[in-house]
Amino acid sequence: MLDTATLIEILAQPKKIVITTHHKPDGDAIGSSLGLYNYLIQEGHHVKVITPTDYPYYFNWMPGNDGVIIYTGHLEESAALIDEAELIFCLDFNALSRINEMGELVRKSKAVKILIDHHLEPEGFEDYRHWDINACATAQLVYTFIVNELKNKKLVNKDVASCLYAGIMTDSASFCLPNTTSDVHRITADLIDAGAVNWQIYDLVYNNNSENRLRFLGLCISQRLEILPEFNTAIITVDKYDLAKYEIKTGETEGIVNYALSIAGIRLAAFIVERTDKIKLSLRSKGEVPANDICRRYFNGGGHYNAAGGTSTDSLEQVVNQFKLILPEYKKLLIK
Ligand code: 5GP
Ligand code: MN
Repeated sequence: MLDTATLIEILAQPKKIVITTHHKPDGDAIGSSLGLYNYLIQEGHHVKVITPTDYPYYFNWMPGNDGVIIYTGHLEESAALIDEAELIFCLDFNALSRINEMGELVRKSKAVKILIDHHLEPEGFEDYRHWDINACATAQLVYTFIVNELKNKKLVNKDVASCLYAGIMTDSASFCLPNTTSDVHRITADLIDAGAVNWQIYDLVYNNNSENRLRFLGLCISQRLEILPEFNTAIITVDKYDLAKYEIKTGETEGIVNYALSIAGIRLAAFIVERTDKIKLSLRSKGEVPANDICRRYFNGGGHYNAAGGTSTDSLEQVVNQFKLILPEYKKLLIK
């Protein structure tokens, strides 16, 4: 493991740097990546952000977005950049499997690998770690990395601040989750002072629905929602025909699971969707109901205690049935 002083020494000269984040990047993944990007370019580094897959259009406003390389469309260029990189920053994920085929390229690369993350149990591929599971967002950790470790608060400009604000806002469910501490509010206050326009960022991310997306949300709530009162659980199930009918794009299913969790008394909500190649589950829970444990044990996934995801290659119907069969095991925590 590298210490911070050595890392600062390495960063004192312009370097070739790759920043990457988990597949299907969310607001924190892309916000923390571009926040760090906008910081590093001020120091004269040659920086490329490479995402394993594409991400929702409502993050395209972020400064630096136009230079982001999406791996699936640029295999050779990405491989060359990873191979030539002197440093690789891995943001918002804890295991190389979370960046798909890029994982092996990063593992093989001779670059110094730096992990900035808030997920449980990092697998340990990195040379330097700025990691805290209590952080509400990786963007919060990018801020503390720049300010407390690199001691460079003066370089948190409007571009850096706007991206980091978006990461914190989205991962804290707009400052509503229990990990939104007073420290988080102090950091976001600093980001606003540095130029992040909080109300505008909210508008760009959340008031950017297509008509189809809103009608699809209506369908999910009125016709695809099932409540299991004996388990305080709500499930929304959508199949590939629903997605096709409403022309649902990457990221447009994001957040729908929260409507199921918003019902009084519900402690576990699942959004189960039939993607082209597999079934994807998004779980959200309250209190001691371990969403990540369910995903890890039964659906090849993981995540945070109260927000986790997983996948299955079974049919949609099988996955929904399997999910229901698991619930008795967690009944004590669900009816608490
Ligand atoms: P979402 O439901 O929004 O896809 O994911 C919620 C949380 O679970 C995110 O923090 C994400 O990083 C994590 N997550 C989602 N899918 C997976 C997965 O397949 N594997 C693991 N390890 N984590 C996941
Ligand atoms: Mn995150």
